[in-house]
Amino acid sequence: MKRRIIRIVILTAIFICIVVFLVNKNNPFWNPNKSYHNLQVYQPVQIDESRLVQQPVPKNIILFIGDGMGLSHVFAGITANQGRLNLEYLKYIGFSKSQSSNRYVTDSAASATAMASGVKTYNGAIGVDTDTVHATTILELAENQGFSTGLVSTSAVTHATPAAFIAHQKCRKMRESIAEDFLKTEVDVVIGGGWEHFAERKDGQSLIPLLEDKGYTVITDTSRLTINGDDKLFALLDKEHLVKARDRQGLLTRAVKAALSRLNRNNKGFFLMVEGSHIDWGGHDNDTRYIVEEVLDMDRALGAALEFAAQEGETLILCTADHETGGMACEGGDILKGLVRADYTSKKHTGVMIPVFSNGPGADQFIGIYENTELFYKMKRLLEL
Ligand code: MG
Ligand code: ZN
Repeated sequence: MKRRIIRIVILTAIFICIVVFLVNKNNPFWNPNKSYHNLQVYQPVQIDESRLVQQPVPKNIILFIGDGMGLSHVFAGITANQGRLNLEYLKYIGFSKSQSSNRYVTDSAASATAMASGVKTYNGAIGVDTDTVHATTILELAENQGFSTGLVSTSAVTHATPAAFIAHQKCRKMRESIAEDFLKTEVDVVIGGGWEHFAERKDGQSLIPLLEDKGYTVITDTSRLTINGDDKLFALLDKEHLVKARDRQGLLTRAVKAALSRLNRNNKGFFLMVEGSHIDWGGHDNDTRYIVEEVLDMDRALGAALEFAAQEGETLILCTADHETGGMACEGGDILKGLVRADYTSKKHTGVMIPVFSNGPGADQFIGIYENTELFYKMKRLLEL
């Protein structure tokens, strides 16, 4: 009897140990992707920094949004690239508070709406305020004032971040209604995924002929991006989101170059939003390699924008995020070897402040700590909209 009790106690203890091991979020069995050794290190672009500011106010604004990119995501990128990113040219640094109207922790829709339209709204809202009333976006204001405008994203262009710059819907899930909203604007260049929401819709209608009637060259083939054709371009390069950076072959950089070559034809100036969408998904997966590859991919696109900006000194470049994802911490690694070891407190977004990096005319306006809605007002003032 006594031996039987001892045996039960031992077996129970072993069982508890196994359960504890399996449910532990730090268990390598669940999380094999926390470390990443980057072997594809690149040199930042060579530009003369003093040429980024050649006039007091910007003619153009390029806003990079790394979805879910907190400070640790940035530093993981710096570590993986052996200590240097193009991002470091953006020397004016601030922090934005991302809380939404109804949550301490925002989602991408509410945060993008805050940056695009200057309103704090509820999680899930696309370009509408807390009463679901249409909130005019910086892109729409710029378009109305004769600027050229563009949206480039590695997700579907109907996904929350790009959508909030152009659409007005009470819920981010209304992807087909968001697609229809693109027809109500005069945005000049759109590059991303989301073909199915325009062309293979549940209502059976295709919006492609309507886009063509509005003067867009609609393309689905990435090789046609570099053809220096019509001013108005609508590139839907995947059914839903674009593939991961490791399989995109520098597509984001090519897309940014394609957008800049078209938008720059307008003497009045332009507004361009560029999103590195997948950084957030790497954060949700607690996958260090995924995060690093996406951060570095966006940084290379930023390099192309910096080379453009250094030519004429009239472009303000901003690089920020909508929120942090994963509660990421860089716990170890080796900068000389490009090795990152990270850990995570969450599989979700967190509420921590997020960095805002900038350079170019007006960049000094973005120093300090402020609400994410301020990004809209600062950009609006600088473009005199
Ligand atoms: Mg996004
Ligand atoms: Zn997310």
